[in-house]
Amino acid sequence: MLVRTMSLQETIQSLARQYAPDIVANRRHLHANPELSFHEHNTARFVADELKAIGLQPQEGVANTGVVVIIEGRNPQSRVVGLRADMDALPIHEANEVPYKSKIAGVMHACGHDVHTSSLLGTARILNGLRDQFEGTVKLVFQPAEEKAPGGASLMIKEGVLENPAPASMLGQHVAPNVPVGKIGFREGMYMASTDELYLTVRGKGGHGAMPDQLIDPVLIASHIIVSLQQIISRNRKPANPSVLSFGRFIADGVTNVIPNEVTIQGTFRCMDEEWREDGLRRMKKMAEGIADAMGGSCEFEVVRGYPFLKNHPELTRRMRDATVAYMGADNVIDLDLWMAGEDFAFYSQVVDSCFYRLGTRNEARGIISGVHTPTFDIDESALETGAGLMAWLAVNELM
Ligand SMILES: [Zn+2]
Ligand SMILES: [Zn+2]
Repeated sequence: MLVRTMSLQETIQSLARQYAPDIVANRRHLHANPELSFHEHNTARFVADELKAIGLQPQEGVANTGVVVIIEGRNPQSRVVGLRADMDALPIHEANEVPYKSKIAGVMHACGHDVHTSSLLGTARILNGLRDQFEGTVKLVFQPAEEKAPGGASLMIKEGVLENPAPASMLGQHVAPNVPVGKIGFREGMYMASTDELYLTVRGKGGHGAMPDQLIDPVLIASHIIVSLQQIISRNRKPANPSVLSFGRFIADGVTNVIPNEVTIQGTFRCMDEEWREDGLRRMKKMAEGIADAMGGSCEFEVVRGYPFLKNHPELTRRMRDATVAYMGADNVIDLDLWMAGEDFAFYSQVVDSCFYRLGTRNEARGIISGVHTPTFDIDESALETGAGLMAWLAVNELM
C-alpha cells in the first residue's frame, strides 16, 4: 500500500487532497443553508450525520446545538487535544452571485464559520483513518453561537466540554480575508480583545436653551463624561496593555433651543488583561457617576459583558508554528498583529492552553478581498484543503 511508504505528514497531505472536493461540497452546502446563533439545528444534524457516515459516534445537543465527537488513537488515555469549529451565521443578506449563495434571505455565513465546520469535518475524516498512527485522543468540538453573547463556547464549557476527557490543549482556526490563500498566521500571547458593551444614561433637567441656569444640562454632562473616560485609558492603563474605548452612539434628542432631559451613550471597551478589564470598568463607572453627580445630574452606567481576551499559549503556539512550517514551508507562515476584535474561542484560552491561528483565504487576482461581516465576503476554497489537513497534522503533532 502506497501510504505505508509515506511519512505521516505526506499521508495527511495526500488525504486532504483526496477529500478536498467533498470538503468543498460540504462548505457549499453549509454556506447555502446558514443558520443564526443558537439556531444551528440543521447544521448540527448535518455535522452529526457526516460524522456517523464515517463510523464515529457524535454526542449531540451539547449546549443545545453543539456536537462533540471523540477519535481515539493508540493509548487513548495518554493525552487529549481539542479541536474547535464554530457553526453559526450572521444576520446579513448575501450580495455574492455564486452557485452556493445563501438560500436564506437576510442570513449569511459572512464570518467563514461554514469554512471552519466543513474543514473540521475533513479533519475528522483524515484522523479517523489514521487512528493507529497517533497516541491519545482527539476531541472535536462543533460549537454554536460564536457571534452572540454569552457565546456558545462559554455554554459548552459549562456543560463540561473541557472535561471527560479533558483536553491538554485546544486548537482553533479562523478564516483571514487579509491573509493570502496558502498562508497561515500565528501570534503568541495576547491576540484578541475582551469585548464589553457600555450603556450610559445621563439624566438632568431639560428645558429652554436660553435659560441654562434653570436647567441641569445632560448634554454637557455627557460630553464631560466621554472626554474623562478616555483619560482613564491614557492615565490608569499600563502603557503595555492594549485597550480601546470607543463610543459610537450619543443621543441627545433636543433641538437647537431645547435641552433634553436625558442623553444616552453607547460604546465598547476592549482590552487584553482581565485584571485591567475589571479595574477599568470600575473606574469608568465611578468617574461617570461622579461627574454627573458633581454637575447636579445622574448617570446610570451599565455594562453588558462580552468575551474575555484571547491568549495564545506561547509554547503551544510556537510548537504549532514550527509544525506548520514543516507542513507548509517557512514562506507560508506569517506573524499576526494584535487584533482588537473579540472571539469566543477566548473562553477556552482562559481555561486550557490554547492556540488560535488564521487560515489565509484572500485571492486578489480573483477579487476575493471582502472583509468578514460584509455581504460580499467569500473565500478562495483551496483554503479548505489546507485548513482540514493542517489541523489534522497539528493535532497529531500534539499527540506524537
Ligand atoms: Zn464574526
Ligand atoms: Zn468568526
